[in-house]
Amino acid sequence: MSTPRMLPRLDSENRFFWTSGADGLLRFLQCRDCAAFVHPPRPVCPHCLSEEIAPAAVPGTGTVATFTINRQKWHPGMEVPCVIARIDIDGAPDVFLTSNVIGCDPDDVAFGDRVRVVFEAQDDVYLPFFEKID
Ligand SMILES: [Zn+2]
Repeated sequence: MSTPRMLPRLDSENRFFWTSGADGLLRFLQCRDCAAFVHPPRPVCPHCLSEEIAPAAVPGTGTVATFTINRQKWHPGMEVPCVIARIDIDGAPDVFLTSNVIGCDPDDVAFGDRVRVVFEAQDDVYLPFFEKID
């Protein structure tokens, strides 16, 4: 049994994102008119104002663009220290996802590390975390 985590509040715009991991795939909204990826989810493409946007799967890999090691226990279920990173998502230009890098010593994380998504299921939410690719 893993530690309970703070769960996001699901709504009609973000539900696909937080449940996407049910089949192991990471998805972001993509505009069908200009092909831009849109994250966080919103009903209109900020680039071309199209409303023709729909979830599209990405490879699930990425690069650590920046990160910090958090040592503050913000809530009782939180494991510290933990790595809070901004992941540059492969296949979705200009999309960065803030998440945790897990499964390794926080001191082993470096800028430019290659990572892959791993989902942690809790209730009907699939939290996307990342682990280093050897
Ligand atoms: Zn667009």
